[in-house]
Amino acid sequence: SPLSREYFLDDPKETKLFAKLNANENPYGPPASAKKAVAEAVDGGNRYAWREMYSLVDKIAKKENVDVKQIMMGPGSSDLLEKVAIVKFMEGGNIVSADPTYMSMIRVAEKAGGEWKPVPCTKEWAHDLDAMEAAIDENTKLVYVCNPNNPVGAMTPAADLEAFCKRVSKKVPIFIDEAYMELAEGPEAKSMAHLVSEGYDVVVCRTFSKIMGMAGLRVGYMFGKQEFIDDIQKITRGGMGISLTSIMAADAAFGDDSFQTMTKTKNTACKEYVSAELKKMGYDPIPSYTNFMIFPIDMDGKEFLKKMQDQGVGVRAFNIMDKDWCRVSMGTMDEMKMFVSAIKGIS
Ligand code: PLP
Repeated sequence: SPLSREYFLDDPKETKLFAKLNANENPYGPPASAKKAVAEAVDGGNRYAWREMYSLVDKIAKKENVDVKQIMMGPGSSDLLEKVAIVKFMEGGNIVSADPTYMSMIRVAEKAGGEWKPVPCTKEWAHDLDAMEAAIDENTKLVYVCNPNNPVGAMTPAADLEAFCKRVSKKVPIFIDEAYMELAEGPEAKSMAHLVSEGYDVVVCRTFSKIMGMAGLRVGYMFGKQEFIDDIQKITRGGMGISLTSIMAADAAFGDDSFQTMTKTKNTACKEYVSAELKKMGYDPIPSYTNFMIFPIDMDGKEFLKKMQDQGVGVRAFNIMDKDWCRVSMGTMDEMKMFVSAIKGIS
């Protein structure tokens, strides 16, 4: 049975938040280039946007070194996670993943008729790849890997994950959610995308919501073996849910390296500041490869959320392995200072 769960406030909308640090959004977005593209695209809103979408898909295919037929677009990666879950699990089967992990695909897989096989993380909060491999049986339809993993922010060692993918994808497809990969730094920060172009049954999923600051504009994509993508698209069309304005914004953001670099630099600076402040207060955050950070708290998670919200700071709280944790997203430096003073106010 699952070892982690999330706490929710009874009415999270009640209080105005001065620092919204609860959804791992990018406080600097959308990029100016994307805003301009949205404005210019509005006039074309009477037409379907297939031509523009295929032009974006061409660029993605070049970047990821795959054929256009291996790519499926979605209004955010959530849409893709959920569509994969529906199609793969509508006839049963099980999904193997880490616990804790990002629950979008798993929740839908369960509702569609699948069974979740949660596998506890290692003590460094990486995926326990040996245990995951052992959990696979004849009914396993998919392995979900979230790397770096939400809500823990940890990265699974690249060489181990690559060996796992090469071996295990011969038995069952592996879906790797790399929503935060572009924000990760250090030698272990390696995408598994090359395995797709090398022909392994691996699917990689990316989003414009994080490093590109477009969570509200909704664009994401996944790429994998053409057979895998075809199976999903036979039932649920990719791309139909994305507006022309969002496609044009994504197209602009895709080539906006300076915005992405700025985001990464500021995100790293905020993480260093928050981590140092938390440690001074005696907290022990998990080293983060993402735009959020999680640390154990000595208070009931729900009470903690309420106390932070009362000070206008929105965060998330989890119970993981019988301990309560706070997950805080990186906002602007000013917002992180508000977070630090709020947490000082309750500890
Ligand atoms: N995958 C992970 C690991 C996430 O944390 C999130 C959002 O927080 C998503 C996917 C979904 O993002 P979106 O639907 O905005 O692409």
